Amino acid sequence: MRDAQVTIIGAGLSGIMAARTLRLNGVEDVQLIDKGKSVGGRLATRRIEGGKADHGAQFFTVRSQELQQYVEDWREKGWIKHWFGDPYPRYTSVDGMNTLAKRLAEDLDPELNTRITSIKESIGGFQLTSEEGNTCTTGALIITCPLPQTVTLLEESRVSFDPEKFNQIKNVSVSPAFVGLFEVTGETTIPSSGHVDKGLPEGVERMVDHYKKGISDKRIISIYMDSEWSETHFEQDEEEVTRLIKDLGKEFIPFESIRSEQLKRWRYAQSAQVISQPFLNLHDALPLFIAGDTFLYEEDETARTRFESAFRSGIAAGEHVSGLVKQL
Ligand SMILES: Cc1cc2nc3c(=O)[nH]c(=O)nc-3n(C[C@H](O)[C@H](O)[C@H](O)COP(=O)(O)OP(=O)(O)OC[C@H]3O[C@@H](n4cnc5c(N)ncnc54)[C@H](O)[C@@H]3O)c2cc1C
Repeated sequence: MRDAQVTIIGAGLSGIMAARTLRLNGVEDVQLIDKGKSVGGRLATRRIEGGKADHGAQFFTVRSQELQQYVEDWREKGWIKHWFGDPYPRYTSVDGMNTLAKRLAEDLDPELNTRITSIKESIGGFQLTSEEGNTCTTGALIITCPLPQTVTLLEESRVSFDPEKFNQIKNVSVSPAFVGLFEVTGETTIPSSGHVDKGLPEGVERMVDHYKKGISDKRIISIYMDSEWSETHFEQDEEEVTRLIKDLGKEFIPFESIRSEQLKRWRYAQSAQVISQPFLNLHDALPLFIAGDTFLYEEDETARTRFESAFRSGIAAGEHVSGLVKQL
């Protein structure tokens, strides 16, 4: 960690877009911090036995002109492809969603494996402390963690924020999700696109065959469980959860040819509520902003947190902070 003009906690899509926007607007001294060993957050891809599987976002849709412009550029560069869906296309990264995040974060020099555990007001901004006890100061701060993590961080900090606004973020609940990852050698009955989200047993939200999706040489399947099922089974033993998922997926997946199995447990997958503004200014006097996928533009009628909401929230927070920094 180092002292910086602007620091962003969370290098998921919204944090990456905030950092890129600040840089594009000429703010050079930007620090991007994440507790993970890679950027991307919920744009997550796992390498399994020489194959690959997405186990966070599988695809994204485009409703805004803002994202559409980027999509055209990313397609030209060969980073993404139209996966399925007509007339509403689902786009996906050609080599795993995490690679798209890594490409977008190139040149941002993120500080990884660094969990911020407290924030304190200091002269001209904030002082951040990491789990290892390291500290740094920053003039402005943008926090883009899933909201329950942001709430915990703020509760463990010494920052005087607007209580009404704080309650707004405290009242958002974020559902968990289980994703089972299975390598099999036999053919699945998942359609040729590699994606199915209809006609599935209760509790299963979607299944993806990454070989058919075109991102893996090995047949690795992700089975996504819905929020209700994941909530019900969240505290259960991993082996038991994996067994239950396999049982629900057996009509589609030839488990007799299984080579490996893994389970991803997302404590915070999808917000049950949204906040209808692109980011939140939490402090009356100091530049402390909260952004992320839960923040939607007022005109966004989907009421769904997703890739596009994270993308737009990060840009909006980045634009706003660029303006503030330039006024100083
Ligand atoms: C299972 C699953 C399936 C999904 N499917 C889809 C889909 O198909 N289409 C779609 O559009 N969206 C989907 N989504 C949603 C999409 O992935 C998210 O909306 C988006 O990626 C969120 O980006 P973000 O930057 O707001 O948050 P995140 O990606 O969560 O980034 C926040 C970052 O903050 C970091 N962090 C947290 N606390 C700290 C701390 N104290 N210190 C430092 N760093 C910290 C985390 O490590 C994380 O990297 C899915 C999500 C999940 C989990």
